[in-house]
Amino acid sequence: MLAADYGCLADEIRRVAVSGADALHLDIMDAHFVPNLSFGPDMVALSKKTSPGLDRNVHLMMTRPDLYIDRFIDAGAQALQIHVEADCDIWAGLRAIRARGVRAGLVLRPQTPVAALLPYVPLCDAVLFMTVNPGYGGQAFMGDVLPKIAQLRKHADGSGFGALDIMVDGGINDETAALCAAQGANMYVAGSFLFKQADMTAAVKRLRELCEAKRQVTCTRQQPATPNP
Ligand code: ZN
Repeated sequence: MLAADYGCLADEIRRVAVSGADALHLDIMDAHFVPNLSFGPDMVALSKKTSPGLDRNVHLMMTRPDLYIDRFIDAGAQALQIHVEADCDIWAGLRAIRARGVRAGLVLRPQTPVAALLPYVPLCDAVLFMTVNPGYGGQAFMGDVLPKIAQLRKHADGSGFGALDIMVDGGINDETAALCAAQGANMYVAGSFLFKQADMTAAVKRLRELCEAKRQVTCTRQQPATPNP
């Protein structure tokens, strides 16, 4: 939603709802964890009111996300992602999200090693890789995150967490999403790329097809590997 036209937010939410996208992604910035400010729980509530059937996915780019978990869930968040670099108890944060029946996710800045989140994988429904430095929309994709996606997918599949969703966020278009899909990502957060399209529905369809094709190629390649004990 960061890339939406703020002059007609309800129309923009409806545009996403009919596009075939799986969810609305809301980036919450606190002017502390990141230099910018975006919006708060009211935007989540507006999304729920405008398009109740569209999944609401909320990414907290905040120093103290733990203090806002309940407020965003009360507003209608159905998935909440907090940063592993946040200044709070990550275990408690993930447990608090799940305790309310909401999908819990952990986010990594581009510079943070995958090792920082591995201990938390059992408490995560999703891991989100930032593929730009968090804080602004419209930035260019950072390709050096790609090997980290492959590293996490391998770890998750090999440790009984094959259902873990791997998301990518930042500079995502049909080209970069396909690169991430080939490494094992399965959820793609696209902002500027989709909102600038005259036909968002066609763009979502094309993005989905390209990514699914890449994932099938990757899975076929991985099949000869030794099965997990
Ligand atoms: Zn995000």
